[in-house]
Amino acid sequence: MRPVERGDLPIDPNTGIPIVFTQYSQAKSHLIDRVGEYCSYCERSINHLLHVEHIQPKAARPDLERRWDNFLLSCVNCNAAKGHEELILRGASRFGNTIPKSNDISSVSAP
Ligand SMILES: [Zn+2]
Repeated sequence: MRPVERGDLPIDPNTGIPIVFTQYSQAKSHLIDRVGEYCSYCERSINHLLHVEHIQPKAARPDLERRWDNFLLSCVNCNAAKGHEELILRGASRFGNTIPKSNDISSVSAP
C-alpha cells in the first residue's frame, strides 16, 4: 500500500503561519505536493480529476470541511463510490495511515 503522509498543516511562505483554507479546494495543490498525484484509495497515479476528499463527510461534519487533517486526494470513481460515508480503513485506526499529528479531530469525533 502506498503510504499517505499528508504531514502538518502547510505554512504560508509569505507569512510563516499555517494556511487557513477558505475553500477546501485550495488544499488540492498542497495535498499534491505532499502525497503526489495519487488517489488515496485506489492508489492509481492520476494527473487530472483528483478531488479533495473528506475523511469525515462534509454532510456529517461541516465543521471539518476546511480542515487540513480531514483531507485526502481521491479520483472521481473512488470519490463517487465513497459518497457521504465516513472513511474507515481496514486494519488501521479510525484515520488509518493518515493519522493527523494533532489529535483534535479524533478527540471530538469519537463515538
Ligand atoms: Zn481512486
